Amino acid sequence: MDRKIYTNLEQYGDMVYGGSFGDLTTFRVGGTYDALIYPKNQLALEELLHQIRKHSIPYKLIGKGSNLLCSDRHYEGLVIRLDKYFHSVFFDEESVTAQAGASIIALSYEAAGRGLSGLEFASGIPGTVGGAVFMNAGAYKSCVKDILQEVLVYHDGFCDWMAAEELQLDYRTSIFSLKPDWLILAARFVLKTNDPETINALMQHRRMARIANQPLEYPSAGSVFRNFPDQPAWQLLEGVGLRSYTIGGARFSEKHCNFIINGGKAKASDIERLMQEAKRRVREAYGIELIAEIERFNWDE
Ligand SMILES: Cc1cc2nc3c(=O)[nH]c(=O)nc-3n(C[C@H](O)[C@H](O)[C@H](O)COP(=O)(O)OP(=O)(O)OC[C@H]3O[C@@H](n4cnc5c(N)ncnc54)[C@H](O)[C@@H]3O)c2cc1C
Repeated sequence: MDRKIYTNLEQYGDMVYGGSFGDLTTFRVGGTYDALIYPKNQLALEELLHQIRKHSIPYKLIGKGSNLLCSDRHYEGLVIRLDKYFHSVFFDEESVTAQAGASIIALSYEAAGRGLSGLEFASGIPGTVGGAVFMNAGAYKSCVKDILQEVLVYHDGFCDWMAAEELQLDYRTSIFSLKPDWLILAARFVLKTNDPETINALMQHRRMARIANQPLEYPSAGSVFRNFPDQPAWQLLEGVGLRSYTIGGARFSEKHCNFIINGGKAKASDIERLMQEAKRRVREAYGIELIAEIERFNWDE
């Protein structure tokens, strides 16, 4: 889009022109985008969204990009990130309210240090509070839904606290995937007092388990496909011979078969082709349709 459209938006935050999704996502792949803005504060964000609507500017709000597969194409639009200025956190006895751009890992460690239990499951999920709420992130049989009380949502020009029960939180999904124009501004979680040493020991144990079982030394976006209630996706992928299977610079991890890793020079299209190949093989072998857990963005459908 014409650069002039964005120049007027510079007043609302820190603007970066012509960067790459490779620098904004944990897969470290993806094409370039027109512009990226870190809004300065809530009023600036609201004004920015008003201008975006007024001029019909395409936009995408992203967190840490840890669940995104952005295509290799250029994105003609504006990327918005909240992690620079929207990361305040407020504790009150057995609850915490965090802005959407706060790191969920940092939040879980801070809660642990204060002797507050509930966020242990999130201590290895490399996203923001907003991203975690968006997809009801979870691990070790716990998820955001278990501790979420309410969410500050910007929608239709208004900010509203919405109760967790209204948000259709389910396995790796929420109402937000149906409402692309709704923005999560903050979330309030209910926690429980516990001994900090007990909480830290559990987090440390899980950290070691992740290091042992997940290819954290490579860029990835975590689990690629959703598990089924009675069967983990990795078993299906293993069953059709995909462990270590490679296309271009991307491959199914030898360590954890439901992770696709970027060996260094992968393109988004390599990852996409691996996903299609996995779906095809699992469909043909088991008659099961794999469902992606990672989100594809800016692809030609
Ligand atoms: C090594 C590794 C391990 C992982 N392990 C886990 C795990 O155990 N469990 C798990 O659930 N996930 C896991 N993930 C995936 C990922 O970290 C989570 O899905 C995380 O919640 C995504 O957060 P994010 O901020 O990076 O969101 P992004 O990937 O940036 O965005 C995801 C979606 O959320 C939307 N979004 C983000 N912020 C907002 C907001 N403020 N308002 C509205 N929409 C918003 C975006 O538009 C996008 O549609 C893992 C990823 C990696 C790389």
